[in-house]
Amino acid sequence: MKFTELNLNKNLQDAIRKAGYKEPSPIQEKAIPAAESGRDLIACAQTGTGKTAAFALPILNRLEKASCGYIRALVLTPTRELAIQNFDNFKKYGRYMDLRTVCIYGGAKERPQIMQLHRGCDILVATPGRLIDYMDRGIVSLAGIEIFVLDEADRMLDMGFIHDIRKIAAATPENRQTLLFSATMPRPIERLAQELLKDPEIIKVAPTTSPAETVDQKICFLKKEDKKHALSVFLKQADVRKAIVFTRTKHGADRLVKDLGKENIESIAIHGDKTQGQRQSALERFRGGKINVLVATDVAARGIDIRGVTHVYNYDLPEESESYIHRIGRAGRAGASGEAVSLCDSEEMGLLADIEHMMGREIPELKTDWSVELERRARGGRRRHSHRAGAGRRPSGHRRYGRIAHTERSESFRRDGGARAERSESFRRDGGARAERSESFRRERRDGDRASCSRRRSGRRPSAVRAS
Ligand code: AMP
Repeated sequence: MKFTELNLNKNLQDAIRKAGYKEPSPIQEKAIPAAESGRDLIACAQTGTGKTAAFALPILNRLEKASCGYIRALVLTPTRELAIQNFDNFKKYGRYMDLRTVCIYGGAKERPQIMQLHRGCDILVATPGRLIDYMDRGIVSLAGIEIFVLDEADRMLDMGFIHDIRKIAAATPENRQTLLFSATMPRPIERLAQELLKDPEIIKVAPTTSPAETVDQKICFLKKEDKKHALSVFLKQADVRKAIVFTRTKHGADRLVKDLGKENIESIAIHGDKTQGQRQSALERFRGGKINVLVATDVAARGIDIRGVTHVYNYDLPEESESYIHRIGRAGRAGASGEAVSLCDSEEMGLLADIEHMMGREIPELKTDWSVELERRARGGRRRHSHRAGAGRRPSGHRRYGRIAHTERSESFRRDGGARAERSESFRRDGGARAERSESFRRERRDGDRASCSRRRSGRRPSAVRAS
């Protein structure tokens, strides 16, 4: 399909050409005509699929007839970064139009935002907290909203915005058009959609549990105390041009930046405790290539569109399996290929089981030369070369490589109590039969240290299984 086949005005066609887009992405191909029809829409698409244009283009097309003096479209997003990104996209696609887009979010000065609003606003991009604040103070009225977009709805619910969303929706006219975009469709999202949408068309471009195909995924088994060293070795590889490292906590992100600094690797952290200015400046420096390693928590990194990310490292495995998909989706965006490596210690085997179960397949194990050094260290032998000198080198002989790999793997199997082997056997046997997979998963749950993790997650698992 071509963009010219979509019913978009000439200004938008020109802007699309200027953006360098050759053809609509699958989500755009489906969502744009659906949104144009005026119907409510549920679109299940991961970030990186072109989902922003999928709602921005029909909004701009519909509001074409210049400013009416009130807000006609509202895009609600979970994070400040995503709000800014959406705003930038509206600017990009609406560059030849007279419509005004305003972006409001917390953690930034109010005055410039309020002045922007007073100058006139057709499209408002907002995070829930700041929007409600302005609504309560009479700064913003949503009485003229024609189109209401919930962007990354699953993330908004994860972040506890459900009451805010309800309040915001209630302040918009009942006859509005509602477009709900979500990477995953767990039960709470289904319930929210039932509450807010009328007879929606449902669009799905890729199974929610299938990670971006362009990302080469690897798992690396190691001890917790070896993670720092392994990561620095990975980051020093020549082909790592732009990397995002994910940590579970804000504190962990800050600590890792310091630790990497000691290894002469300059990195920068973004997380919820940083001010908006710090986060933006970190992103700018990373985008512009001044710094090649960004250390991020899930919430801070969600939805961020940075081109040219070659590698994603999961320094900690995510607590939520779905976050794994979002994380690795940072690499290999818009058709470019990327690599995602997860560092998994013995305490994280349960989380790995969850992720692999959700995807219905194993992540291949990575064997690199740093394990040579780690093994030597584990045996108490002297290291032949320094960390830095060893970085990026491939093992010299296949035999040695194979032996190390084998040793490493059997160690990981021992830690795992054989569950990984059993799991892959069950995957092979069932050829996709969900029931069997669940049974194998239940078996694993009974195993040792996975039990507590699984108990914690047992409420989530069924919906993820259904989604797959
Ligand atoms: P999104 O999923 O909206 O975050 O978009 C991911 C990236 O894909 C952004 O950098 C967009 O500029 C880019 N993009 C969106 N639509 C297209 C398209 N049709 N062709 C090429 N790139 C696109």
